[in-house]
Amino acid sequence: MEETTKKSLNFIEAIVEEDIKNGVNNGRVQTRFPPEPNGYLHIGHAKAICMDFGIAQKYNGVCNLRFDDTNPVKEDVEYVDSIMEDIKWLGYEWGNVYYASDYFQQLWDLAIRLIKEGKAYVDEQSAETIAQQKGTPTQPGIESPYRNRPIEENLELFNKMNSGEVPEGAMVLRAKIDMANPNMHFRDPIMYRVITSHPHHRTGFKWKAYPMYDYAHGQSDYFEGVTHSICTLEFVVHRPLYDWFIDQFKDSDYRPRQYEFNRLNITYTVMSKRKMLQLVREGLVAGWDDPRMPTICGLRRRGYTPESIHNFIDKIGYTKVEGTIDLGLLEHSIREDLKPKATRVCAIMDPVKLIITNYPEGQTETLTTENNPDNEAGGTREMIFGRELYIERGDFMEDAPKDFYRLTPNGREVRLKSAYIIRCTGVKKNSQGEIEEIYCEYDPETKSGTEGGNRKVKSTINWVEINSSIPAEVRLYDRLFAVEDPSASDQDFRELLNPDSLKIVNGCRIEGALKNAAPMEHFQFLKHGYFCVDKDSTPGHLIFNRTASLKDNWKK
Ligand code: ATP
Ligand code: MG
Repeated sequence: MEETTKKSLNFIEAIVEEDIKNGVNNGRVQTRFPPEPNGYLHIGHAKAICMDFGIAQKYNGVCNLRFDDTNPVKEDVEYVDSIMEDIKWLGYEWGNVYYASDYFQQLWDLAIRLIKEGKAYVDEQSAETIAQQKGTPTQPGIESPYRNRPIEENLELFNKMNSGEVPEGAMVLRAKIDMANPNMHFRDPIMYRVITSHPHHRTGFKWKAYPMYDYAHGQSDYFEGVTHSICTLEFVVHRPLYDWFIDQFKDSDYRPRQYEFNRLNITYTVMSKRKMLQLVREGLVAGWDDPRMPTICGLRRRGYTPESIHNFIDKIGYTKVEGTIDLGLLEHSIREDLKPKATRVCAIMDPVKLIITNYPEGQTETLTTENNPDNEAGGTREMIFGRELYIERGDFMEDAPKDFYRLTPNGREVRLKSAYIIRCTGVKKNSQGEIEEIYCEYDPETKSGTEGGNRKVKSTINWVEINSSIPAEVRLYDRLFAVEDPSASDQDFRELLNPDSLKIVNGCRIEGALKNAAPMEHFQFLKHGYFCVDKDSTPGHLIFNRTASLKDNWKK
């Protein structure tokens, strides 16, 4: 998929361009990203972020960060902080930081206004009863017996809902709209509920009556002056209600306009904050930033770069059609980004000792190797070579079939990467018959970089020198779930986890040049894949996370 042509506008960009051309809101463009701080952001949120911030960037507008924090039971500052960190990491800057909780007073005042206008009432029925009375899209709902309460009584009870006199769940404030409306959201939606048991992460116990999302969300957009309120398709049916609330109060022609695009779903993962929280709480993953999680912090720890995420989101685009994206496309994006960037090094996962018997004992030499053949600017580095090396156990076979071109005792030569040509002369086995040492002779005239280095043999194998190489722990990650769509199954999603999603390899040996590698540094381990240094690494104990294997199954 060569991107030679200019990228066409997505449908929301086209709307914004048209609005600017027509002078809508005097050409002003203001968007917002409105997370609820009740979990960490995931790759789906990244899609929304790239849209909200991207539009503002492209059309000289502003994108604010607004926390829709109307439910103290689930929200926390930990989430606020992580959300900010992730947005910055993706490379965006917000204009202002707003909180729906900053508008609690304004929202309250407007609710009082609605009550006074006879457009809202306090209902004392339980949430279950209210839900039962909703009706169905083709059948009108049942009106609450409290629907026509006198205004004074409503005002008094609404105040009590906020003073602590009303227990949780005992009363709600409902908008008095239309119990027969074909749009279910118009059937006297709940505007306020009582929460007394949890402090709000910003307002503490000051408020006990909390606005519902559907009331607060559209109003918050309105208070802030949002022009294009962009969200996902499930909010299409909420839009008329947001507009209705705003129309009750607005004092000019201005009203935010909501546009919806398709949510991102990816195979072999779940992207519901509720389910992700369960995985974290139940210890089924090692935290929100477990490298198997679809969270932004998880992907970051796994070794994904902001560029790879942007490229992925550009590729999938924005439409009005729901669908699920192949996880392979996300992996393709990181490979594509790291291929020219990551230094390619030798890492021996399953080491076996190789001794070059005709190489002088005690001698070592320094060889030069390229860091990345796909990127000349990547430069070179030095590798220590000596008499005793480690190679991959799988690169040797004693009784090899004809088409095995790596090391065997049959006299065939192989090249040690960036070094010399060798030939196997024998092996030593332990009492169980396992190979302990492989003996070889090298040809001193075949050093890479010299004329003899041009001599071609069928196969090149990787190696590290015994004394200069360092040990490492390698964490091989795979897809988190064993099935493509864990949410579609009748089984609990937690029973569908891939039992092989993490394999830890201890005793791996890597080039000494990586001794001071810092967390988040990316490497390609030759023949194995892309890896990055994990933040849990300590001096002398490097840990690498596999970002992606080398093989790209993604069909372009
Ligand atoms: P919840 O299920 O808890 O409501 P949410 O995933 O909808 O969680 P929000 O914090 O409400 O999370 O989302 C913030 C914004 O991100 C919203 O505008 C929402 O439309 C968008 N968003 C959430 N999930 C996705 C997704 N999978 N793809 C694209 N956008 C998403
Ligand atoms: Mg939501």
